[in-house]
Amino acid sequence: MMLQSHYFKPEANRPVVGRFAPSPTGRMHAGNIYAALSAWLVAKSQGGTIVLRIEDLDRDRSKAEYISAVQRDFELLGLTWDHGPFFQHDRDEAYLEAFSALERRGLVYPCFCTRADLHAASAPHRGEKFVYPGTCRGLTAEQIAEKSMRRAPAQRLRVPDDTYSFEDMVQGRYKQNLAHDCGDFLIRRSDQAFAYQLAVVVDDAAQGVTSIVRGVDLLCSTPQQLYLQELLGLDYPSYAHIPLLVAQKNRRLSKRDHDAGIEELLARFKTPEAIIGHIAGVCGLAPTCDPVTPEQLLRTFDITLLPELFSDPVQIPWQ
Ligand code: GLU
Repeated sequence: MMLQSHYFKPEANRPVVGRFAPSPTGRMHAGNIYAALSAWLVAKSQGGTIVLRIEDLDRDRSKAEYISAVQRDFELLGLTWDHGPFFQHDRDEAYLEAFSALERRGLVYPCFCTRADLHAASAPHRGEKFVYPGTCRGLTAEQIAEKSMRRAPAQRLRVPDDTYSFEDMVQGRYKQNLAHDCGDFLIRRSDQAFAYQLAVVVDDAAQGVTSIVRGVDLLCSTPQQLYLQELLGLDYPSYAHIPLLVAQKNRRLSKRDHDAGIEELLARFKTPEAIIGHIAGVCGLAPTCDPVTPEQLLRTFDITLLPELFSDPVQIPWQ
């Protein structure tokens, strides 16, 4: 069979809708604020609007206190939204519909591999993407029945040996051969919860999102999401994957880095404008670190300069 190339261009002439998609697993930190500010500037500079979607798919790690805190934090910082909040915990019916459509096409199969099996098969090197080796792809009906008695399976989506590519507004052309660089991927977990890749694609389409701005750590998920959009007949958004803010030793800033948490930022900078100004200055969205509001930044933000803003498109040291 001929290898096929799939190149995706965002649908033109739709009203621009960006999104904030926080996972409520902790308070906001400088990295989340930077991503939200960038998404806001990209959408608003094109006359667009913003959706707020709370990504509480992981019920164990999502906490009610963070759901309200994250909304208060956005409001405090002047990062306004126009639609929502929408919640992933309300959306199982929509995810199931998409899942069933894929299942009917014979593209889904049960996977009985445990985490330990997968790690034994091929331990990915640091920073490398895990490629599923296809262990459960060819199980017979008898094998499936027999294994199902011992453990509930997760569900994987078959991927073709094809290249999926798109033009990222920051990172440039990005491509992946789904079979070699990714492998069949999870769309439902063994506890029946739907996986991030499926939920995010279904939600972005249902909420009319046309412009996705997020950290470069999700760049390698985008071909999977394009493949899902293609299968489900959904419109393609535009993508901008921005550099990650990193702490010492190039480690990604996380909710554990308390010096970059919103409470510490408020203690250090005193006002929301000073926090936004510092982050904008450090990340190249403003010429200085002077206090500023998102509205003020919007006056000078030029989306066409996005690819030139970063000397390193992968990481920015937090300071
Ligand atoms: N909820 C994810 C996060 O907080 C973002 C997912 C996405 O932008 O697609 O990292």
